Amino acid sequence: MSISKIKIGVLGATGMVGQNYIRLLDNHPWFEVEYVAASPNSAGKRYEDAVAGRWHMQTPIPNNVRNLIVGDANQILQAQGRCRLVFSAVEMDKTAVAELELGYASNGFAVVSNNSAHRHTADVPMVIPEVNPDHLEMIHDQRKNRGWDDGLLVVKSNCSVQSYMAPLYALLSAGYSVKRMIITTLQALSGAGYPGPSALDLTDNIVPYINGEEEKSEIEPLKILGQIKNGAILNETSIKISAHCNRVAVTHGHTACVSLEFGNSKPKLDEIVDIWRGFRAIPQDLELPFAPKRPIIYREEVDRPQPQKDRESDKAMSVSVGRLRRCNVFDIRFIGLHHNTIRGAAGGAVLTAELLKVQGYLS
Ligand code: NAP
Repeated sequence: MSISKIKIGVLGATGMVGQNYIRLLDNHPWFEVEYVAASPNSAGKRYEDAVAGRWHMQTPIPNNVRNLIVGDANQILQAQGRCRLVFSAVEMDKTAVAELELGYASNGFAVVSNNSAHRHTADVPMVIPEVNPDHLEMIHDQRKNRGWDDGLLVVKSNCSVQSYMAPLYALLSAGYSVKRMIITTLQALSGAGYPGPSALDLTDNIVPYINGEEEKSEIEPLKILGQIKNGAILNETSIKISAHCNRVAVTHGHTACVSLEFGNSKPKLDEIVDIWRGFRAIPQDLELPFAPKRPIIYREEVDRPQPQKDRESDKAMSVSVGRLRRCNVFDIRFIGLHHNTIRGAAGGAVLTAELLKVQGYLS
């Protein structure tokens, strides 16, 4: 191992998102996985044994992780001295996750979480690196509020919102205001973790309900687009969002069908495509290792984007957009798609950690 790499721990390392961390961090130029933890059922086993029969990645378990002994994620002291940053991808009761993540941060760990437990905690930034990297500034207030010297807690948003947040933000940052959006998501099976819903419920079927997902899709964008004022993030209030969230029989890749109403100024369709194609942000300027070269890829084909064909675009970190057309009720409609376990979960969190590193929060 190169001594200059930052030591990483993965909590929930045996799960769907955790396995993606293990795979994506293999040979990362700045980070190295040194610690893995999961439930007490997996604790004490070699990682390879703990995931035997349920390793879902298409590449083998990286050699540096294969023989690590899995810790109990609930025992914070087991991680002490083993890592500087933990990615949190445990699936447990929300109150327990909330307490656990604060426990890691108060013990000096940087915590980047996929869980929803702290998404609405006032001093916890919920970051999409291309959209609100400035919210990381909240870490200064967070440390002051909580008396932490080195610890910090940053969360990722719900995976479903990723299909439309960058396209929406690109339009806002080009000077257009947005009043209302109606979003219908078609969400992949892997979004429910492993083993997920029963095959009998999903085959030849669509399930028009995902617990809590519509509320998250409607509220989380408002915090992400919010402003920091007096040490808190104030939600954006001018945009109204209505969401329908559906589980569909796709393995990976969440799709969103979006209808959007602008304020008084309404861009032409060609201009919108140019805005999306030209959109770049801090991760691209800094050439962060996980930053896609094009955060938004606009597809001209009439039948794209599609999960099978577009979810892997640019290391599975780009959002693919297509079918931009006029809407008979609002102003425009389009389809957005992203890879839910990569851009929407582990990959997006790694990009956030890269931003934390270059901005000096991990020193
Ligand atoms: P998952 O496949 O069910 O994995 C859950 C992980 O949590 C496993 O490592 C499991 O360990 C561990 N765990 C379970 N109970 C525990 C306990 N009592 N104490 C400590 N660890 C425990 O879930 P997932 O899909 O990876 O999701 C993980 C988190 O990411 C969830 O909060 C989810 O909402 C979020 N998320 C998921 C996606 C996605 O696309 N899947 C996207 C964004 C966010 P064992 O193997 O030992 O049981």
